[in-house]
Amino acid sequence: MNQYIKNTIDLIYDMYRTQPEFVQAVEEFLFSIEPAIAKHPEYEKNDLLMRLVIPERLFKFRVVWTDDQGKAHTNTGYRCQFNGAIGPYKGGLRFQKNVNESIIKFLAFEQTFKNALTGLPIGGGKGGSDFDPAGKSEAEIMRFCQSYMTALYRYIGADVDVPAGDMGVSQREIGFLFGQYRRLKGNFENGVLTGKGLSYGGSLIRPEATGYGAVYYLDEVLKHENDTLKGKRIGVSGYGNVAWGIMKKAAELDAKVIYMSGPDGYIRDPDGINTKEKLDYILQMRMNDPMHCKPYAEKFNCEFVEGKKFWGVKDVDIYMPAAVQNDVGFESAKLIGDSGVKYYIEVANMPTTNDALSYLRSCSHMIVAPSKAVNAGGVGVSALEMSQNSERLSWSKEEVDSQLHRMMKNIHEESMKAAETYGLGYDLVAGANIAGFTKVARAMIEQGLF
Ligand code: GLU
Repeated sequence: MNQYIKNTIDLIYDMYRTQPEFVQAVEEFLFSIEPAIAKHPEYEKNDLLMRLVIPERLFKFRVVWTDDQGKAHTNTGYRCQFNGAIGPYKGGLRFQKNVNESIIKFLAFEQTFKNALTGLPIGGGKGGSDFDPAGKSEAEIMRFCQSYMTALYRYIGADVDVPAGDMGVSQREIGFLFGQYRRLKGNFENGVLTGKGLSYGGSLIRPEATGYGAVYYLDEVLKHENDTLKGKRIGVSGYGNVAWGIMKKAAELDAKVIYMSGPDGYIRDPDGINTKEKLDYILQMRMNDPMHCKPYAEKFNCEFVEGKKFWGVKDVDIYMPAAVQNDVGFESAKLIGDSGVKYYIEVANMPTTNDALSYLRSCSHMIVAPSKAVNAGGVGVSALEMSQNSERLSWSKEEVDSQLHRMMKNIHEESMKAAETYGLGYDLVAGANIAGFTKVARAMIEQGLF
């Protein structure tokens, strides 16, 4: 291995012993970009790797809120402004019980390169809180959002840092957050958040964008393999907003999602999760309970397998992990490898552990696509929302969708080219990392040392 990369990894292990997810993301990235580092001594001269790995800044703050009984609760809030070399920091907020500094930093790190891949001027950031939205009333969620924004509002802005949604933060939460921001600032600056409601500056297609983008990207991969989406059966883990977008677009393009999963187990619906009734039900189910997908099986009379994951089933053509980080570990990867399924398209951020990812990439019959390319359409459409807000215009559904489609084609194309440049063949994982890295690195070097 390149000595500069090796030294950096040793340092990272030393510095971030208590941040396993962050170390995992950095390590995978550094291994991937090795050929680019080896060819360009200027990166080492500029100490670029450490500068890429240490965030520009990270806010950590107390968030106090009262429940419906009037009792006070205290959570920790975060916002990590990881890298602003190519634009204002951009990335979602995650409200989930397990959120900590390691998770926020891994997400912000990934976001930096994902955002660069969109080709739009957005830097990388991420935030959130260990607040657990499960079982909270709407009024409790509103009070939490108001308190969170009161702590954060001084540090964000349309040209500074533009948060959006992630797990536990959907349009409803963005509304509460924006309301509080407006109340505190006294200005209508709706470019400060994306994923907004249409009534105050949201963009058409934003709710669908991550899932649609993933299917557009998948379509490019299939075309590269002289294959087509038509008739394909897909296994998607998760049943959140992203999985929903995949199901919707797959149905439109004559493919069908036949597996989905939740923390409680998985669903197999051989007819496809593809009717309006089914798709609407999923959104509702998710709103009511992010922990159980079993009600779908009861409602639509299909199979539910409790407490298990479906990795390894043979009756799909494509696997798309779209739930959460580290969903696919080494044992699952072996099952997937053995299943004979050709396409493994990551969608959630870092859904595969590093050993599992290496294993899948080493299976010669498989094509593996990385999440930071596949899911970039979400944040890409957020950047389009920012443009619409600054122009004080709204673009049509067709306009946004066609820009999203073009963006995903470009990401696939650029990743492919970056891998080819370094003689790596059709390696979408290395290609996405190298393409994203090269853009951010160039901007950092041109802006001098800091
Ligand atoms: N949380 C989403 C992501 O991981 C969206 C971020 C955004 O729209 O800013 O890309």
